Amino acid sequence: MVRQECTVENGHCVTGNGDCMTGNGKCAMINSDGLALVSPIDVSDMPSEAVGIDGVWYDVTQFKKIHPGGPIIDQYIGKDASTVFRAFNHDPAFLKRVKQVGRYKMAQHACDADFEKLRQYFTERGFFETDYVWYVMKAFVAMSWFIAGVTAVLAFDNFYIHMLGAVLIAFFFQQSGFIMHDCMHKTMTRQRIKDQFIGTFFGTVGFGMSSHWWHDEHIIHHIVTNAIDVTTKFVDPQMWELSWAQNEKLFPLFSGIFQYLCIKIQHITFVPFVVAIGRYEILTDSYRVERRWYEWIAIVLHWTWMIALLSQLPSWRERAIFYVILACVEGLFHFQLILSHYCKAFITMDEFHQVSWNAFQVLSNMNLHTYKFMDWYYGGLNFHIEHHLYPKMARKHLRTAGPYVKAVCEKHGIDYEMLSFVDALKKTLSHMKRVGAAYKYQSG
Ligand SMILES: [Zn+2]
Ligand SMILES: [Zn+2]
Repeated sequence: MVRQECTVENGHCVTGNGDCMTGNGKCAMINSDGLALVSPIDVSDMPSEAVGIDGVWYDVTQFKKIHPGGPIIDQYIGKDASTVFRAFNHDPAFLKRVKQVGRYKMAQHACDADFEKLRQYFTERGFFETDYVWYVMKAFVAMSWFIAGVTAVLAFDNFYIHMLGAVLIAFFFQQSGFIMHDCMHKTMTRQRIKDQFIGTFFGTVGFGMSSHWWHDEHIIHHIVTNAIDVTTKFVDPQMWELSWAQNEKLFPLFSGIFQYLCIKIQHITFVPFVVAIGRYEILTDSYRVERRWYEWIAIVLHWTWMIALLSQLPSWRERAIFYVILACVEGLFHFQLILSHYCKAFITMDEFHQVSWNAFQVLSNMNLHTYKFMDWYYGGLNFHIEHHLYPKMARKHLRTAGPYVKAVCEKHGIDYEMLSFVDALKKTLSHMKRVGAAYKYQSG
């Protein structure tokens, strides 16, 4: 949590000596999690449908219909979007084409200037540029897993080697997923159409889910990480499951005996659910809502090669076991992303716009402590804090960026958490147990 240097009385900082977390000498409010809040922006004279950047209101009435990030822009109507605008490396020249409709007084947190300085430093060091040779190697590694898995099925007549093939294909899925993730953040060629085409190849044709569906959810996850609005039933979509509650703030969204029972045993069902049904859930969720024809062509291509591969196995029993093993091994990989968020801070949308976006990215994320040679396995996302703060940073630089980010966090008293995979899993399970125990039955 952000260190409370301020003296707090009745939820208000009364220090008033310049040590306040707002950094402007004015008193800060502190929420129940100890997060420093700045005063909400006065929007009384703001024209409707405007988003604030660097003290200027921009009319987005027309632009929001074609916003590449989708309807998430609605969450920033009447709000300051300066930090998130920079985090996604939006081109400042774009703002010249948008109508200005007024000004507002910005209220920034002390840490934001330092995180911005760090961005400029990383830019100078080339951390936001693409190393094409590195990516050719990544694509080569992913395709090697695929070729090894297919060879295990086609070239051998042995059940156990066939099952090894399923494990190898799961590793192909994992590496394809990481390439898709990079592409959907537009950090490969850094051109939208090209990156989304490559991302769809690896993510949809390779991995099997709709990459654009995933992109739509993932961008929202990045912008409003671990945020909840109970009134409108809005939740960070990658932090929402019907069968468990990661945080007490989600409780108002659950009701009925089925969800009550699920939440009460969530610490027991958590691991088997993620492993056994994680893959099926993500695929069916994406198919259910996907309407883009090009994604459906890619989905058909995925199932064409998958069915062709399964047809080479000698029996239906073996085909079923092959796919179950493949799905379970791939399910294991899901833990990494879940562990980075589940036991971390959650926040209401109202408070979200009053805390430092940068500080909350650190507080709602956890890094996994791993050896450098294992970065390929975690896809660089073991440095999840750095990825969330600087989502346009090339994956190969996330580890190098880590100590710089940690230093800024230490300077501002922001908890920068990094645990081993096992410790993160233990912490998440005990967190799920504690939250489950606190849930009280609510009728539907
Ligand atoms: Zn994340
Ligand atoms: Zn991401």
